[in-house]
Amino acid sequence: TTQAIFRIQSTVSALFRECLSKKGFIEIHTPKIIPGASEGGANVFKLKYFDREACLAQSPQLYKQMCIIGDLKKVYEVGAVFRAENSLTSRHLCEFTGLDFEMEIKEHYFEVLDVIGEVFNYIFNGLNERCKAELEAINNQYPFEPLEFLKEPLKLDYREGCKLLAENGFKQDVNEDLDTENEKALGKLVKDKYHTDFYILYRYPKSARPFYTMPDPEDENFTNSCDAFIRGEEVLSGAQRIHDYDLLMKKILEKKINPATLKDYTDSFKLGAPAHGGVGIGLERVVKLFTGIKNVKKCVMFPRDPKRLNP
Ligand code: ATP
Repeated sequence: TTQAIFRIQSTVSALFRECLSKKGFIEIHTPKIIPGASEGGANVFKLKYFDREACLAQSPQLYKQMCIIGDLKKVYEVGAVFRAENSLTSRHLCEFTGLDFEMEIKEHYFEVLDVIGEVFNYIFNGLNERCKAELEAINNQYPFEPLEFLKEPLKLDYREGCKLLAENGFKQDVNEDLDTENEKALGKLVKDKYHTDFYILYRYPKSARPFYTMPDPEDENFTNSCDAFIRGEEVLSGAQRIHDYDLLMKKILEKKINPATLKDYTDSFKLGAPAHGGVGIGLERVVKLFTGIKNVKKCVMFPRDPKRLNP
């Protein structure tokens, strides 16, 4: 079973690469030792870098955006992501593999949602075709229901999601992020109503998203953003990014981030940047949720968590 899990892991990352390179995305490799936090101050590992302080990258976010500004148009990366998550859950690792992509947007951020749908369907179909024996081996030891997914993935407005929760007796403020229980509950409700274990929820409230997220032009309490879920658990976060220098600086100050720590990043917007967006996916979570394995730590060869640094 262990071998089957790692064959599946390897196939997911191969399918991700295959799907995006067929679509003209190019693979990039961004630095993992960086001068400041990529996703805001919390959960960052700091280290000594000669006579300075450095951080381990919490995502390739800022660098993949700089690649788009550098006119690479569509990029992806498969690489290590570090999060100092001081909690022991079945979903969190302190080091995981991020599957990221970033692309220019021509007219609307739903172009990003379309690519998300294509990539996941490519991965799901690819696993079912190429990993029959592995899935069977896992199913023998840890029985699971095969993943149910639609040919045209479901895209659900965040406000619709909150309505569905409210109609079924769950409390959810539309201006706040979903907590883990409501995420799970919504996953079940969506499965009952739309018969899919995979869906994309879009237009999150601004309180739930990082500084670089593009506001919704129709309602500034919301953003051009999305998460995707498998069996009620988040596997992806994505959004259109702010590409206007002045708006970006305004949002950095609003979120009370010291702009000096982001100067190289923000400077790259000064001469103009194309509209763009992208996503980050957790590889181990995709493996965990596709196969119904209970703990993400079973889906990584050498897990890192607050208590575990060996082997
Ligand atoms: P969560 O709310 O589940 O902690 P997040 O909102 O911090 O996740 P993002 O920063 O949006 O996650 O990261 C993008 C994706 O990376 C997530 O959807 C998830 O698949 C994966 N991911 C994030 N943190 C972890 C972690 N500590 N361990 C494993 N995978 C992770």
